[in-house]
Parts: sequence; structure tokens; C-alpha cells
Amino acid sequence: MSNVTKEFIVGIPKAELHVHLEGTLEPELKLELAKKNGIDIGQKTIEEVRQSYEFDSLTSFLGVYYPAMEVLQKEEDFYLLAMDYLKKAKDNNVKYAELFFDPQAHTSRGVPFADVINGYYRAAKDGVALGVESHLIMCFLRDMSQESAIETYEQMLPYGDKIIGIGLDSDERKNPPKKFADVFARAKEDGFNITMHCDIDQENSIEHIRQALLEIGVQRIDHGTNILEDAKLVEYAKENGIGFTCCPVSNSFVTEDMKGKEILELLHKGLKVTVNSDDPAYFQSYISDDMYVLATKYNLEKKDIIQLAKNSFEIAWIPAEKKNEYIDQIDAYVENL
Ligand SMILES: [Zn+2]
Repeated sequence: MSNVTKEFIVGIPKAELHVHLEGTLEPELKLELAKKNGIDIGQKTIEEVRQSYEFDSLTSFLGVYYPAMEVLQKEEDFYLLAMDYLKKAKDNNVKYAELFFDPQAHTSRGVPFADVINGYYRAAKDGVALGVESHLIMCFLRDMSQESAIETYEQMLPYGDKIIGIGLDSDERKNPPKKFADVFARAKEDGFNITMHCDIDQENSIEHIRQALLEIGVQRIDHGTNILEDAKLVEYAKENGIGFTCCPVSNSFVTEDMKGKEILELLHKGLKVTVNSDDPAYFQSYISDDMYVLATKYNLEKKDIIQLAKNSFEIAWIPAEKKNEYIDQIDAYVENL
């Protein structure tokens, strides 16, 4: 039996490093924005929207996920979406967050890049007053071309100071990391932090992880527990302090289980594993819920939760002094219990 309570998990200071802003669109806000922007989404009640959030694979999830974004039209809409998440983050004692966003999902339907980035960035700044510091990570959609990624990268450059890193997400099938080698090489050269999704149990998962680590040179992998298939890569990730942003509840929606055994194995091997919510509105699970369900199903001990929380700051893209400040907050929390 796990000795960890939900209260302990909610209270511990933590960072969230794998959450897609577009995946935080709760039914309430979706309906509100649809009404405001005069968009017929085919659903009239929260219950109807909730029922549309149903899927059993990554592909079926993405089939619901991208059309839902139609309600996001104006700068203000992006602001409201991010603020909605930041309030939830505060409730979960998330002190720091790195927020993924997918500009191509918006620019491809005619929304100006500036409205997306300015809305999200304004929310990130206002979040500080709530006690949540945050930065933005711009992701490319991997089912689109590298040319489109480069075009998006160049649209972003005038706003480069509003972004902390570059990521890669969406449908991994037949879209390996090396498809985007050029644009990631450029991002690295320009000084951006880089990460990539390596989703669970994909075709060629381990080869994609190898490419991400050894050819692209990512600092983190989003998901990535399939690394356990190759002991040498595990060793490499450990030696190089590679971060893993795991999302157990999300895993349980798109594969047969939450990969708790793998997450714990990596954690106990000393890899920088973290637990995150991914798309919390769709999976109805925010970061503390993810940590709690993992803790109860896999008998985590308090020290595991403390380690997960410390890892989340250690692999965050913030200066060392800042990391130490947050880690001191964890120690103070544990001591004062
Ligand atoms: Zn994700």
C-alpha cells in the first residue's frame, strides 16, 4: 500500500513541463468561446462536449483534438485558455510551468501567428501574480512538412524572446525526428532549448528515441519510456541528464496501460523522470491526479514523489539558482509536514 496521500501530492511544490495549452480547453471555455465567436461546434452542453472527448488511440485522439481548436480565433481567446490552465496550475501547487503550443494548428486555419503568441505570452506574464511562473515552448506538428516547420520557425523569430524552447508533437507514425533535423539544428544554433515527443509504443519507437538523442541532440524527451528497450541509450540518457516528461493518464488513454512500471524503473535507475498531465482537459486529469493515480496503482513511496518533484525543477529550463530556490521549497514543505 502506498503511504502517499492526495493532499501530500497536491501540496508539494512542483513544475509541469509537458502540458499542451490546446489540451487544456475545458468544455466550459470551449462553449463560451464558440458562442462568443459565433461558431457552431455541433455541441450545446458541457455534457455533449465531454462526450466528444472520447478516443482509444493517438490517431482518434488527434481527430477530436485539432477540430476543437476552431473556437480559438482572437488573441484574447488564447489568453483566456492559458489563464484557465494557470489557475489550475496554482490549485495544484505548480510553481513553474513550460507550456507547449502548436502555432500551425492555428495559422493553417488563418489565425495570425502574432495573435497566438501574444495571447499566450500575456497570460504567462499575468500568471506570475497567481504565483505561477511559466515559459512557452513552440512545437511543430510532425505530420506537416519540414518546410512548414521552417516557415513557422521564421514567423516565430521576431518573437524569439517570448519562447524558451522548441518541441515536436502530433502524429509520430512515419514522422521520425530526423525529418526535422535541419530546423532543429538551426534552433539549437540560435540558442533555443529543444525537446521532442517520442510517444509510447510507436512503430520504431526506439529508433526515434535514438535519433532524438544522438542525431538531434535533444535535452529532454516527452514520454519516451520505450528507451528501456536499449540499455545503452538508458545509460546515455542517465550520463547526460536527459529529462523525461511522462504522462501516465494520457498513456492509459492511447495504449493499454499507464506505463507505471516503466516510469518507476527509469526513476529508480536515477534518470530524470517527471510526471505531467499532457492534455488535462481531454483526459480529465491534472498533474496531481496523474501523480496520485501513479502513486496508488504502483505503490509509490513519499520519497518517490519528492524525487519526481525535484526532477521537475532540475530539468526545467531555468537558471541553477532558480532551480535551487524551488528545490529548497520542496525540502521546506517536507520538513514542515
Ligand atoms: Zn504531449
